[in-house]
Amino acid sequence: MKKIYFTPGPSELYFTVEEHIKSALRQGFPSISHRSKAYESVHKSCVDGLKEMFNLSDDYHVFFCSSATEIWERIAQNLIEKESCHFVNGAFSGKFKKIVENYGIHAFEEKVELGTTVDVDKVLIPESAELISLTYNETSTGASYTSSDLIKIREGFPDQLVSLDVVSVAPSIEIDFSLVDTFYFSVQKCFGLPAGLGVWFVNNRCVKKAEQLIGKNKVIGSYHCIPELLSKANNNQTPATPNMLGIYLLDKVVQDMIKKGLKQIRQETNYKSALLNHTVENASFLSHFVPNEVNRSKTTLVVNSNVTSSVIIESLAKKGLVIGTGYGELKNQQIRIANFPTHSKEQIELLSDQILSLNI
Ligand SMILES: *Cc1c(COP(=O)(O)O)cnc(C)c1O
Repeated sequence: MKKIYFTPGPSELYFTVEEHIKSALRQGFPSISHRSKAYESVHKSCVDGLKEMFNLSDDYHVFFCSSATEIWERIAQNLIEKESCHFVNGAFSGKFKKIVENYGIHAFEEKVELGTTVDVDKVLIPESAELISLTYNETSTGASYTSSDLIKIREGFPDQLVSLDVVSVAPSIEIDFSLVDTFYFSVQKCFGLPAGLGVWFVNNRCVKKAEQLIGKNKVIGSYHCIPELLSKANNNQTPATPNMLGIYLLDKVVQDMIKKGLKQIRQETNYKSALLNHTVENASFLSHFVPNEVNRSKTTLVVNSNVTSSVIIESLAKKGLVIGTGYGELKNQQIRIANFPTHSKEQIELLSDQILSLNI
């Protein structure tokens, strides 16, 4: 039986990926030099596609790293000298803060209960914080910020660098990236690609900050520091031999998504999300974890279960439908369901029907 993965990442591959892998292999793409014109043209196409997809001005640069986790460390090295402020509302936002602390930086935290988001109208951020970090969609809890939160943060803190984790949300939700200075994702969530590629976006304020830190004799890393990444990116290359197959596939999937239309993808995301929410409200054994409706994630739904989550997970697995457990300590009390661009309306309808017909 063919399984369908609704896990929050890795997840089901985007439906065109298998064909693209075959064509990459047929062309021998993984064997060519990463310093060749043929590689450079794929790199450029991928970067141009991402800039088009996210509506970015020339003020932004695109770098390829190995994961979002790597990018956390690069931000700690390149963009913060002494102090940062982290909105912590779950495991991923918390991990970033820990990495920053490992660098001896004073990482101030605005911590709120799991399932909620920091109230940006009330938040107090020290003026001395050089960077403010938000996780748009906290995958561990299913709590999501809104576009109006981003607008308020930008207006309230024009002098700070604003960093946005969009790992489990881009490109499914429209985000105005001109409101932030740096953002990043890894490809195994909404893009439906094999893991092992993190994409980092920085604007020229970030480039300047990294240069200032060098001027103060701070060590900002070596091969993957911003100046080195930028000098190679200007030639459509990378400092090390990159995940070439990953970049090739990302380029293809970005083209596929642009051709389908981001508007269409986002409308479908809304429709499927409404269907999943309706399912939760109609299943006697499920209830929403995120209390505030506007903060409920559209891409990674997290819900409470009044039976051990493995009962639900195993019953669905028998039908080939693979959903996620709760995260960390909530593993047995919750389920998590991804609603990514590769998940069709029909697949989400099938999942909903199967959940509602479970005999629990
Ligand atoms: C998955 C995830 C990450 C980590 O991604 P890696 O590719 O494992 O480094 C970071 N932030 C969020 C919100 C995530 O969902």
